[in-house]
Amino acid sequence: MFNESFQTPLIRRIAIVGSGLSGLTAGIILQEQGHDVSVFEKSRGPGGRLAAKRVSGGSADIGAQYFTARNPDFLPFLRKYAGEESFETWQGRFGFRDSSGEWSSFPEEPRYVGTPRMTAITRALSAHVNVVAETRVGKMTRNDSEWALEDVNGNPLGHFDQVIITAPPAQSRDLLADSGLAELASHLDDPVERVLPCWAVAIHFEQTPWSHHEGMRTDHPVLYWVANNSSKPGREDSGQWWVLHGDPEWTKQNVDTPAEQAAARLIDAFREVTGFDDEPDEVVTHRWLYARSEGGDQPGHLWFSEDGIGIAGDWLSGGRVEGAFNSACSLIRTMVPDS
Ligand SMILES: Cc1cc2nc3c(=O)[nH]c(=O)nc-3n(C[C@H](O)[C@H](O)[C@H](O)COP(=O)(O)OP(=O)(O)OC[C@H]3O[C@@H](n4cnc5c(N)ncnc54)[C@H](O)[C@@H]3O)c2cc1C
Repeated sequence: MFNESFQTPLIRRIAIVGSGLSGLTAGIILQEQGHDVSVFEKSRGPGGRLAAKRVSGGSADIGAQYFTARNPDFLPFLRKYAGEESFETWQGRFGFRDSSGEWSSFPEEPRYVGTPRMTAITRALSAHVNVVAETRVGKMTRNDSEWALEDVNGNPLGHFDQVIITAPPAQSRDLLADSGLAELASHLDDPVERVLPCWAVAIHFEQTPWSHHEGMRTDHPVLYWVANNSSKPGREDSGQWWVLHGDPEWTKQNVDTPAEQAAARLIDAFREVTGFDDEPDEVVTHRWLYARSEGGDQPGHLWFSEDGIGIAGDWLSGGRVEGAFNSACSLIRTMVPDS
């Protein structure tokens, strides 16, 4: 797919909305094929939900916790464009508590993390493609056979032959609707409903609060996932940073709860699960409005050939980091059939 020997007959100007893993993957492959690619990102840096927050002494992965690489093309792609040093296997004990209250192990398979933080991967990938940061694409207007893009303040962003949108479904739908593309936007109505939010908290302790697992899925109604962030390779934290993710349904019901209260509830739930009573000495909270997508159709990508608009993202292919890669590859196979 990202074979350098591929020759494309036509150079296209392609805009990509979003610099998460799906946007960067699409951008790199298309650029390798000789196209003229610009990636627009509303945030300060690339990465999207492969995110880390600065905390004292280092950083904590506040979004995706680890990724799998079942697609044999994924690791070679990362090695080539992000570099061997940007990710490593997370050797840990991963478990979940079943309905009988017993702990069971996750299936054996390699789990990878960015080193020294998740964003190391997307930062390295972004060096291969032109990423225009702090630029939220607000509207696309069709002029003859090209798209004129503008940001949310009406500033022009250029003219393009094709546009790939990789934002989460709600943001993709808004962009299509604000561009007068109501029919295209309606394809996203169902996916928008399937994306759930997530309250995330990073907490710091001087000593280990739980020594049985490095990552665990709990059966607590408030707490979905707990990870010892400091146990990931390449982290050199003093003390221990742990990451807690709220249950998606609980987060949905508490999405407007003030951050401090949401964090306190998650920390209480952590105490109930682990029995560890100490107060964390630092707490960093983040609310994901669009965290994970569940169920629904997973066609891999959407491609509207007459409009020259493609849509890719994790939610079209399994809802995970590897799904974001798979979705971008699947879209490009359709846009450029011989690749
Ligand atoms: C709390 C949490 C835990 C997770 N845990 C895991 C896990 O353990 N394992 C796993 O595999 N996956 C996990 N995931 C899912 C994983 O993070 C995603 O599947 C993956 O990162 C999605 O990549 P993406 O490129 O499709 O989308 P994103 O990373 O969301 O990228 C979309 C980008 O588009 C940008 N954008 C949006 N609108 C615009 C606009 N109008 N103009 C410009 N830019 C725009 C956004 O800022 C963002 O950077 C988790 C996610 C969360 C939030």
